[in-house]
Amino acid sequence: MNETASQGVCEKCQQPTQIKFEHYINLRLGESATIESYNLCVRCARQLRHSISREDLPEPDQITREELIDVLDRFWNESGAGEICRRCHMQGTGCCPPMCRYLGDAGCQKKNVFCTSFVCSALLNGISECDAEMGRLVKWIKSQIGSAEFRLYEMVTRVPQVDREAVRPLALPRHYPKPLKLDGERIKPQLAGLADEILEIRRRWHEEELEQVQPMKMTEEQGRI
Ligand code: SF4
Ligand code: SF4
Ligand SMILES: [Zn+2]
Repeated sequence: MNETASQGVCEKCQQPTQIKFEHYINLRLGESATIESYNLCVRCARQLRHSISREDLPEPDQITREELIDVLDRFWNESGAGEICRRCHMQGTGCCPPMCRYLGDAGCQKKNVFCTSFVCSALLNGISECDAEMGRLVKWIKSQIGSAEFRLYEMVTRVPQVDREAVRPLALPRHYPKPLKLDGERIKPQLAGLADEILEIRRRWHEEELEQVQPMKMTEEQGRI
């Protein structure tokens, strides 16, 4: 961030602003994402967003956001990881917040990049046990690609405004690197063999989380009395 940004003024027009933006650029396979930071007023952010979208043309080795979601969805289905997640939700330990506006009876109705890239540690460890290289790639996608849409995830899951990430995305990436070589079929039999163990870990962790949350809830309730 530059010196002007730290003074709480828009770095384009010098009007006061407290809004911070970030923009993921140059997403390259296996590399850390480059994140540009800005302090901007709403008007200048809108102008910069428009100019970014005009200049944001795909390179030959890139795929669109929709293609990326399809690639990842195919991987979850072909590897059987999606079936483990379905069972995880059935046993009440899934990671989709119940208040998400896209959570329907048949599961997710509109995935974003954050959600399609997300994998809990229990499932990631299982994937890595089947194929260490694939596990590293899945972990990289989660941390470097998925995080660009974390704010979107917060919005659709109705995280209260005060608890949301302070930095807003200036513009969501529209192009992603390829090829994402994720041969789900290859790990399917071995991952199926680990499913019960993964689900047992999720149950254990869930119980531990509840034990940690319970005293906080009681303190909150006592504060209201
Ligand atoms: S917590 Fe893990 S296993 Fe459960 S739904 Fe989420 S990613 Fe899948
Ligand atoms: S948008 Fe994300 S959190 Fe909501 S139901 Fe879909 S996968 Fe779950
Ligand atoms: Zn401005």
